[in-house]
Amino acid sequence: MTNRAINFYAGPAGLPLPALERAKEELLDFAGTGMSVMEVSHRSKEYDAVHEEALALTRELMGIPANYKIILLQGGAHLSFGMIPLNFLRGSHKADYINTGNWAEKAYKEAKLVGGEERVRLAGSTKAENYARLPKKSELNIHPDSMYVHFTSNNTVEGTQWQEFPETGGIPYICDMSSDIMWRPFDVSKFGMIYAGAQKNLGPSGVTLHIVSDEFLEKAEAQDLPSYLRYKLHAEKNSLYNTPPTFGIYILRNVLAYNKSIGGLKAIEANNRRKGELLYGCIDKHAGFFKPFVTEKADRSLMNVDFFLPTEELTDMFVKEAKKAGMVGLKGYRDVGGIRVSTYNAVTVQNVETLVQFMEAFVKKNG
Ligand SMILES: *Cc1c(COP(=O)(O)O)cnc(C)c1O
Repeated sequence: MTNRAINFYAGPAGLPLPALERAKEELLDFAGTGMSVMEVSHRSKEYDAVHEEALALTRELMGIPANYKIILLQGGAHLSFGMIPLNFLRGSHKADYINTGNWAEKAYKEAKLVGGEERVRLAGSTKAENYARLPKKSELNIHPDSMYVHFTSNNTVEGTQWQEFPETGGIPYICDMSSDIMWRPFDVSKFGMIYAGAQKNLGPSGVTLHIVSDEFLEKAEAQDLPSYLRYKLHAEKNSLYNTPPTFGIYILRNVLAYNKSIGGLKAIEANNRRKGELLYGCIDKHAGFFKPFVTEKADRSLMNVDFFLPTEELTDMFVKEAKKAGMVGLKGYRDVGGIRVSTYNAVTVQNVETLVQFMEAFVKKNG
């Protein structure tokens, strides 16, 4: 066995070991071609099988209805921050944005570059409270003439997560699910569009997953945009309009096949909930020592857990000693500080048990 780190990085993040082992095994001779998957044509039948399998597994695992298209692009979530308004804020169309964190704010700002302040409206924000909680239902101001309401399902930097999606009064959601896609089963049919960079919960960076309803896609009248920026074109071409990120999609396929083999999103959700119980359990047990960043328990994320230690010195010591014990990626985001533990799907219950044991010992020694 190679010496694998216990990986709590926020992104790019750890991948399931069996998905990587499969890649290792197939690297030099993929599907009997005598080549790696990186070296074959994206129009070959061998690559096509991987492409189709990645799309089919996404549909199966998430229960995506037949009237939704799945699109795999490059450019990360950032490209979609701009592509969404370019495609859907045509003419005088308007949109609402809910600002709940670092990434939600970026999406909002990019949309304003396209639609301006008038058409891109803030439907709610907790910025004044450093995004330490999500807006309450009564604090949201959704405009009935909006094309869509954009929100971020999991706030990666701050560690909040919408356990129940916000109410929009029937206006389609567009959701950035970069850091919690496939963490649990949910009803896709409520969404106009979902998008997610792969590098947190799905695979390597370089692939961005989009799920979009046919009805919503019809509203993208974007013939005047450069071709790559048109969602419709990518949907029509089955994500093969130009060369797709073939290796990334291949790894995505491996991750999804593994996810299916362990029981799909229900089993993954059970693991994630157990991890959350363990970690938040330890934080709450030692409330005088570990101070959570998020102020509302109901808004706590099961993907990113932010907390502070009593002093900077203890925080540095925590990170250093954890690293000696094989655990990496625990330093908080630069604007937040403290500790951030990212517990994406590939982090095992056992990994979190190891961390919690370390935390218990740390409190005993330094508390
Ligand atoms: C990481 C992250 C992003 C940034 O994604 P890129 O692929 O780097 O563009 C955007 N949104 C959320 C919620 C994220 O977690």
